[in-house]
Amino acid sequence: MAMRNKNENIDELVSDFSRFYILTILFEGPAHGYHIINRFKKRVKKEVSPSLVYPFLKQLEKKGLVKHKVSSVGEKERKVFELTQEGSELCIGIFKRFADLVSIAIESSLYVCAHCGCKIYEGGYRKAIDGKETTFCCIHCANSHKETRKLAKNVT
Ligand SMILES: [Zn+2]
Repeated sequence: MAMRNKNENIDELVSDFSRFYILTILFEGPAHGYHIINRFKKRVKKEVSPSLVYPFLKQLEKKGLVKHKVSSVGEKERKVFELTQEGSELCIGIFKRFADLVSIAIESSLYVCAHCGCKIYEGGYRKAIDGKETTFCCIHCANSHKETRKLAKNVT
C-alpha cells in the first residue's frame, strides 16, 4: 500500500473508527439516526457528522446488514435502524478480530516478572541483577530472585 498524505491517512482511520463505533451502537439494539449520533457523542466525546452516519446506514442496508422500520415519534416519523441476522454476525466477527488485535498489542507491551512469571500490566519493579536491568512484579520478587541467585552461586 502506498503511503499517502499523513492527514489523509488519519482521516481515513478516524472515519473507520466512527463506522466501528456506529456498529457497536447498532449492535446494542435498534436505534434511529439521531439516537446513534447522540450516543456516539456521549461515548466517543466527539461529534459524528450525519453525512457520515446516514450514508453508512444506507450502505449497510443495501448490503442486507441493516433494515429499518418507520415508527412515529409524536407527529414525526422516524426510521429505526436495526441489524439483520447477517449484520449481527458480521459485527461479532469484526469485534472479535478487533479484540484479538487489541490483546496482541497489550500482550506485546507486557512485562513478565523474572521471578514468579506473572504478567505486569502496570508499574512493576525494576532492578539491576548482575548488571542487567530486570523487571519484577514487586520488590519481594526482586529480593527473592537475588537470594535465589546468591544461593545458586554458593552451591556451585
Ligand atoms: Zn513476581
